[in-house]
Amino acid sequence: MEKLTDQEYMRYSSHLLLEGVGEQGQLALRNAKVLIVGVGGLGAPVALYLASAGIGHLYLVDDDHVELSNLQRQIIFTQQQLKQAKVSAAKASLSQLNPHIEVTAFAQRLTLESANNEMLEMFEQVDLVIDCTDNMPTRQMINKYCVMQKIPLIVGAGIRMEGQLISFNAKKSDSACYHCLYPFDDTAEANNCSTSGVLGPLVGIVGSLQALEAIKHLTGMPVSSLNRLMRFDGKTLQWQHFSVVKDPQCAVCSANV
Ligand SMILES: [Zn+2]
Repeated sequence: MEKLTDQEYMRYSSHLLLEGVGEQGQLALRNAKVLIVGVGGLGAPVALYLASAGIGHLYLVDDDHVELSNLQRQIIFTQQQLKQAKVSAAKASLSQLNPHIEVTAFAQRLTLESANNEMLEMFEQVDLVIDCTDNMPTRQMINKYCVMQKIPLIVGAGIRMEGQLISFNAKKSDSACYHCLYPFDDTAEANNCSTSGVLGPLVGIVGSLQALEAIKHLTGMPVSSLNRLMRFDGKTLQWQHFSVVKDPQCAVCSANV
C-alpha cells in the first residue's frame, strides 16, 4: 500500500491532523496533477499554496516576464527575478519551497491548436485546471477544453476592489460551465490589473480561495464554489453568492446544441 515518507509525515503534519485530509488525502494530493494558467496576482498564491500543500505535479503556463510593476501583488517573484520568464522564476521559487514536487513550466501563451501537441497532451493529463488569467478569450478557451476533456475548473478574477470565484465540474452532467455564466467570447475593453488597478491582497484573497477549493476538490471534500459565483467586495468585506445553473442552450457544454 502506498505510504508517505517520514519527511512527508513531518512536512504535512498539519494536513494529517485534519479529518478531511489525513494520509489518504495527502496521498491524493501527491498523486495529483494540476494546471495553473497564468502566473500573476492570482497564480502566484495559487502556485505557492499548492506547492506547499504537496500537489505532486504542477504545470505552469504563462508567456510573460517578471516586471517591476508585478512585484506589488505577484508575491512568488523577487526583485532579483526581474526580466526572467515568469514560469521559470516561479518554478525556481516553488522548487525551493518544496523539493518533493515536480513543476513543468511552459513559457508560452496557452494555445490549444492541434499543432501544439505538448499543450494538448498536458490538458489530457491533468486532474484539475485553475484559471488565473485576466482576459475573456483565454478564459473561454480554457473552459472549452475543460468541458471537452471533462476536467474540473476553478476560475478566479480580481480587479480594483472586487474579487470573483467560481468552480465547475464537467465530470458531472448537470454542472454549468464558464460559458453558461458569460456567454460571450470578447469584452468591449480589456480590463485587467495593469489597466484598471488592483490592491495586492485582493488577488491574494481570491488566489488563496482558489487553492483552498483545489485542495478540497482533490481530497474529496465538497467544493462550496461549485456552480456558485462568489463575489467579494474588498471595500466592505461583504460576500455575495449566486447559483449558476447549466444553460440547456449553452454552445459549449450542452448536448442539445
Ligand atoms: Zn455551458
